[in-house]
Amino acid sequence: MVIQENMTVQKKLEILSDAAKYDVACTSSGVDRKGSGSGIGNSVACGICHTFSADGRCISLLKILLTNECIFDCKYCMNRASNDVLRATFSPEEICNLTIEFYRRNYIEGLFLSAGVLKSPDYTMEQMLKTLRMLREEYHFNGYIHCKAVPGADPVIVEMTGWYADRMSVNLELPTADSLKMLAPNKTRKNILKPMKQIQIGRLENKGMPVFNRIPFSEEDGYDTGRYLTTAAKAQTTSDIVLPDISDIVTADPSGSSFGLIKPPSVNRGFVPAGQSTQMIIGATPESDYQIISVAEALYQKFDLKRVFYSAYISINDDSNLPALTQGPPLLREHRLYQADWLLRFYGFQASELLSENRPNFNTLMDPKCNWALGHLEQFPVEVNKADYYTLLRIPGVGVKSAQRIVRARKSANLTFEDLKKIGVVLKRALYFITCNGRMMYPVKIEENYITSMLLQVKEKLPLGIEAASAYKQLSLFDNADFTSANADFRSLSQDNFLSGLGG
Ligand code: SF4
Repeated sequence: MVIQENMTVQKKLEILSDAAKYDVACTSSGVDRKGSGSGIGNSVACGICHTFSADGRCISLLKILLTNECIFDCKYCMNRASNDVLRATFSPEEICNLTIEFYRRNYIEGLFLSAGVLKSPDYTMEQMLKTLRMLREEYHFNGYIHCKAVPGADPVIVEMTGWYADRMSVNLELPTADSLKMLAPNKTRKNILKPMKQIQIGRLENKGMPVFNRIPFSEEDGYDTGRYLTTAAKAQTTSDIVLPDISDIVTADPSGSSFGLIKPPSVNRGFVPAGQSTQMIIGATPESDYQIISVAEALYQKFDLKRVFYSAYISINDDSNLPALTQGPPLLREHRLYQADWLLRFYGFQASELLSENRPNFNTLMDPKCNWALGHLEQFPVEVNKADYYTLLRIPGVGVKSAQRIVRARKSANLTFEDLKKIGVVLKRALYFITCNGRMMYPVKIEENYITSMLLQVKEKLPLGIEAASAYKQLSLFDNADFTSANADFRSLSQDNFLSGLGG
């Protein structure tokens, strides 16, 4: 480990903001837009990322690691103990000063704080807690704070941190326990799920939900971690979801996760009021898309997560357990998973409707909703003047806003194709799946191969990095997805966008 004595705060900031950008569990990661020279703004500057508040505002965050001196050796991570990289650690005071100074200069509105594991999970979590407590109580910082919970840390320290943070996250890292064992040998699924369950229950308890049978607080023990769930709450947390490879998530030791809430006297905010999120690395291990979205679904349903983030794996370390990635980072796959995630959260789909054990992966040539519709042509065409809201949401080319507008607008008049266009329906996609007043837009065959070939001709708007690689556009329907030609383009893009090593 390369540790330089007497490092300046500026140098630490360079190292620890650079290391933090490998964590994508904030919505803006992946942006690599340089200043144009004529306009204002530069998203490349180290250490600033963006997230979105509940009311839709974009918030700039100082995004840093407390430390990249890590005793763990996750095989995919740049900060792993066995790598020869320059190490640095901020003191809590340094983080507070940076946050306040950046805030005063109007650079940021909040802090995103993650960490490698310095000395031990408890010690690292204590440093995080100390930082947050100092920021809130001594510097009276009232801005947004997103803080990682370190797997394996004492639940009491995690709990106390939760009173000072707005959002917390624990990275699931890999979709299955076996993969975790192979690539992150110092972490266990239980150590990751326990704080996640703890945060979920803490939030429920803070809202006054009847989750616990409370056991009286014991002065001797300090914070009592021995509280337990009622039978009803246990039933709720362990109810069956019959899907593969997620039993460890669904049955995540609820009794071991219960802790009760002890509120610091000075705190007048809620417990993790902005909820929790997590992140999975995609493509480092052999799990299918079906396994991944099933895990995400279980996390939303059983842990009440706000977001699951997907991070396309990119090879930065040599290890026989890691894939060679000759075809570049699986960015298009990552994009399809985000689209599917959207369908789970906002469109009423279930993972088992989108994929199955027999059809375990998305067709990367097509968005998951089109993919689903083509497999369920018996449900189309849908009459837009009559279908209920949730049926409308299943039509390719109809989004949440346009479905809402359709439901509102048709109260006053029967809608035409022209009306649908004005409402925002993407008719190039929808026309194969809808009727207006009993008529299709054009006489088309409702036949899978025909509609597939027509849909593939509709240019899809893909995120910048993927479009630059041209991987999508040049594929033909009958090719296997082959990104060889795109590989060079992927690599020429800034690796910083796609690295999958994570803090904490
Ligand atoms: S992922 Fe986190 S815990 Fe694992 S090596 Fe990297 S910094 Fe350490």
